[in-house]
Amino acid sequence: MIQTDVIIVGGGPAGATCAWSLKQNNVNCLILDQHRFPRAKPCAGWITPKVVQDLDLNISDYPYGFTTFKSFHVSIRGLKFKLRTRQHAIRRYEFDDWLLHRADAPVQVHTVKTITQVRNGYVVDGEFFSKYLVGAGGTHCPVYRTFFKTANPRAKESLIVAQEEEFPYAYTDEHCRLWFLENYLPGYAWYVPKANGYVNVGVGGKAEQLKANGDTLKNHWNHLVEKLDRLGLVRGHAFRPSGYSYYLRQNLPEVRIDNAFVVGDAAGLATLDMGEGISPAIKSGLLVAEAITHDTDYSVASIPKYSLRSLIRLGFALSFSQARGADQP
Ligand SMILES: Cc1cc2nc3c(=O)[nH]c(=O)nc-3n(C[C@H](O)[C@H](O)[C@H](O)COP(=O)(O)OP(=O)(O)OC[C@H]3O[C@@H](n4cnc5c(N)ncnc54)[C@H](O)[C@@H]3O)c2cc1C
Repeated sequence: MIQTDVIIVGGGPAGATCAWSLKQNNVNCLILDQHRFPRAKPCAGWITPKVVQDLDLNISDYPYGFTTFKSFHVSIRGLKFKLRTRQHAIRRYEFDDWLLHRADAPVQVHTVKTITQVRNGYVVDGEFFSKYLVGAGGTHCPVYRTFFKTANPRAKESLIVAQEEEFPYAYTDEHCRLWFLENYLPGYAWYVPKANGYVNVGVGGKAEQLKANGDTLKNHWNHLVEKLDRLGLVRGHAFRPSGYSYYLRQNLPEVRIDNAFVVGDAAGLATLDMGEGISPAIKSGLLVAEAITHDTDYSVASIPKYSLRSLIRLGFALSFSQARGADQP
């Protein structure tokens, strides 16, 4: 049996950042991920300055494509405006691999199936033992499933479904574009041009509300493809989108039970307005590392629930739940 102090299930941003911080504090850990990195992850790859700060990332040292936007071009039910804001974009294929390498922690390709709590720790699949266990396995995390599902059930109304595709494209429009609440979409669509000639486009929205509207995400994907063609943003591309689902922030989630923790999407921490999950994943990974290193409490109360606080202060309620009644094509 392989023994270590901390087993981290999942090597995405939450798990890799937790491992990075533990390593800096001389705590041994082992990351188990079902995929060999680099691996594809459906995600627009938008990151905030907070992510850069939390990761102590010197942008000029980042070895892959990194894009900085000075504004977002936003449309809310057809009302268009330019939001001045400094934001960034990376490709998850590159970023997650870089984070994992930077953590400099042992990684094993292993799909976690069964976890048992024993007197002084946790046994994973009868092969690995640790005192602490960190669930960083995203929406379908086995740590969440085994220990947190009952204490912390996920609310159906918080489920976001999303479809996206990232591909090489000789784009001519370098603006990040966001379309909120169009065609009754309880969410938004995006166009994100990235460094080294890549584009990421997608749609995401609340699953329960789509269903209540008798609608499907596929309809909205088709609207987006038409729009991209009409606006000349992407033409002549044979689209092959990937889908994924995750949960927005819930009220007071239970994030620690004994020495088991959940972080990132496993805890359901994405922001309520934008569905931003990378920053909460990174922050929660850091907080768990701190709790384990210094034997302190772990709470997600300090992780913001909203991405665009300033917009909300101005009265733009970008909530996913406002889509019903939107009438804009
Ligand atoms: C289409 C889409 C677009 C998005 N766009 C953005 C965006 O632009 N900006 C933003 O901030 N957020 C965005 N998000 C949300 C963001 O992608 C997630 O919140 C973020 O990836 C969460 O990170 P994580 O480390 O918790 O989980 P993940 O990144 O999902 O990593 C989990 C890891 O666990 C591994 N794993 C899972 N199960 C097992 C198992 N049984 N055994 C071993 N390993 C396992 C997986 O292989 C994976 O590597 C988007 C989400 C979607 C679906």
